[in-house]
Amino acid sequence: MITGLNSYDFPPFRPPNEANSALIRITRGCPWNRCEFCAMYKHLKFEAKPLQEVKADVEKARLIYGVADTIFLGDSDSLVHKDLPEIVALIRKTFPETQRITTYARAKTILHRKMEYLKAVRKAGLDRLHLGLESGDVIVLERLNKGAKPEEMIQAGKKAKEAGFDVSFYVLSGAGGKDRWKEHAKNSARVLNAAKPDFVRLRTLTIQHRTPLDEKLKKGEFILTPPLERLEEVKLFLESLDVQDCFLASDHLTNYLWAGNTVVYRGVAGTLPDDKERMIETVKTSIDFIKSSDEEIKDSNLLYREGLISSL
Ligand code: SF4
Repeated sequence: MITGLNSYDFPPFRPPNEANSALIRITRGCPWNRCEFCAMYKHLKFEAKPLQEVKADVEKARLIYGVADTIFLGDSDSLVHKDLPEIVALIRKTFPETQRITTYARAKTILHRKMEYLKAVRKAGLDRLHLGLESGDVIVLERLNKGAKPEEMIQAGKKAKEAGFDVSFYVLSGAGGKDRWKEHAKNSARVLNAAKPDFVRLRTLTIQHRTPLDEKLKKGEFILTPPLERLEEVKLFLESLDVQDCFLASDHLTNYLWAGNTVVYRGVAGTLPDDKERMIETVKTSIDFIKSSDEEIKDSNLLYREGLISSL
């Protein structure tokens, strides 16, 4: 039982763009917890927090944060919580100034939930769902053990939009590995073109210690996409995207590439379709630089193994 403010139950993870948000935890862990690349909640048994505990946390959150322009609800799949409409309504009442409430959601959970429930959550005031697409390629999704197929990702995205949510899809750059980056790029774009999200966010596969994918990497069963091919993958992905009124961000450090101490690629960002050509040109410039450079190009995987980045 949580008592004082010192023991406030902060969610351990949130999207990078929620860095300034008030954080309220309504579940703990991930009900799936089997993605091969994910180390987020591996040692946590999933639970939906009891309603009374969440209500107490909302009160504490008001004391801790004061006012909150934006609020993020943890952990990985808030739509599992049966009391979510009531929780969101309470948060809106407690934080009347809040402009936006968002959370993570799994595609499978969206598909399992009745439209009536989704609309009730939306009506209560939850604005945006962050979905981990990772890849739109069926083989890559199977390899990652994501637990959802490309067509299910499309249906979930459409269903969430129909319920009135803003939808943000995460794409895991590099997830295809050296042998499947082209399929990963083209099929991820295909899924997004069909699902029509409001946001696409790129982060790069960075294989962490003690994950199943790390074991595969050590055994040679998975080969990382080298930096140059990863940029070619991003370029092909952008070229294949055909979405309207969608903001694409690369708001994660894992997207960076370094030559020595110099950052030679920071990712791309812009509104689609208007900024598409500019973003492709940015990637091409970095590709040309890398091709002409004698320096070793360092990506997030190399920096992670060298201990230079730890928090992912
Ligand atoms: S990536 Fe998301 S769905 Fe997969 S195990 Fe991690 S938290 Fe769960």
